[in-house]
Amino acid sequence: MSFRKTRIVFLLLILLGVASVTYWESMLVRSWLRPLEVAIYAVNGDGSDVSASYIAQLPAASFEEIATFFDQQAARHRLKILPRANIKLAGEIRQAPPAPPSGERGVLASLMWSLKMRYYAFHTTPFWENLGRIRLFVVYHEGELGKPLQHSLGLRKGLVGVVHVFAKKEQSAQNNIVITHELLHTLGASDKYDTHGQPVYPDGFAYPDEGERYPQYAAEIMAGRIAVRPDRAIIPTNLDACVVGSKTAYEIGW
Ligand SMILES: [Zn+2]
Repeated sequence: MSFRKTRIVFLLLILLGVASVTYWESMLVRSWLRPLEVAIYAVNGDGSDVSASYIAQLPAASFEEIATFFDQQAARHRLKILPRANIKLAGEIRQAPPAPPSGERGVLASLMWSLKMRYYAFHTTPFWENLGRIRLFVVYHEGELGKPLQHSLGLRKGLVGVVHVFAKKEQSAQNNIVITHELLHTLGASDKYDTHGQPVYPDGFAYPDEGERYPQYAAEIMAGRIAVRPDRAIIPTNLDACVVGSKTAYEIGW
């Protein structure tokens, strides 16, 4: 075989290897036989001192309420109680994750980004330790009032996600909502809001079958907002005001 052919065969083998490991890991995690393991890696998104000191003071229990949320919601949807989720801050990463494709996102651009993302996760975090674990790169920003952050992205069934959040204590409960949303993407859940950001009925509603349709008092986590009127939805203050709806529960294998 020529060098070129050997190289192509070698690359194909690597791709096949990556694909099989990813598939096997995702099946394992979504079988819910073991506790959900999530490693959170903090990234300073703007190089600012504010983000640096925020990351430095992050308490180990910062993400504990996400584990509690999983416990409570699983109990609503599953007959058998799941082993307790383990969601931990695993460390800080200096390098920023690859930028997601902007504007019109083609299939190829998304595929390329997902490969880059896997490579980034592979070389910035330990491999064996993270097998069968979801890795979330939480990127902290000082942020400016009224200026939205970059879009967060969870690879669907890829067990890797990038979450952009604010480096502010007052914001930490809402940060946990965003982190949980992306975490659910990596487990196979889809978004449940329309192009105006309004929750889609019935899957994007916390309690679509109970009482009046509006106003709702809680948010379906994959819709991200509480539908209070057909044309108005508000951001919940914390995970206590969020639920996993039945469609999301089905998508993640509950
Ligand atoms: Zn989403």
